[in-house]
Amino acid sequence: MTHTCHATGCNKACPPKHLMCGPHWRMVPQAQKNEIWRYYRPGQEVDKNPSHDYLRVMKATIDLVARVEGVQGSLL
Ligand SMILES: [Zn+2]
Repeated sequence: MTHTCHATGCNKACPPKHLMCGPHWRMVPQAQKNEIWRYYRPGQEVDKNPSHDYLRVMKATIDLVARVEGVQGSLL
């Protein structure tokens, strides 16, 4: 199974433990990355059972990258 980047409209393959591909991950501010790693639990990508906190941070990060890219700028 291939894991792909979670950024809106991107389907580049990336390692399962990485939320996004390299270029998108670099758009995420360090503070937000720290939040991701704070809630990331090793193995969650294997048992498909990430915490609610992780999912919340993940969604915020996806929204943030979308905003940086201007993908859904008009919705905000
Ligand atoms: Zn991407």
